Amino acid sequence: MVPVDPRNTSVTCPPGLGGCGHVDGKSLVTQATFRCTACGFTVNADHAGAANVLDRAGLVLCTAA
Ligand SMILES: [Zn+2]
Repeated sequence: MVPVDPRNTSVTCPPGLGGCGHVDGKSLVTQATFRCTACGFTVNADHAGAANVLDRAGLVLCTAA
């Protein structure tokens, strides 16, 4: 098992969705909107959080292979 910290998944620019991986609490504009402070990548916050959880667990790589 890969440890996943749910506190950071919602503030990480999701690499699995084309983001840069930057972690910044300010990127979470609202509970529903994520906009990266580093690259400007914008996505639904729930979508970003879910993508980061999957990415950390390695499931994205598994399913993409
Ligand atoms: Zn970014």
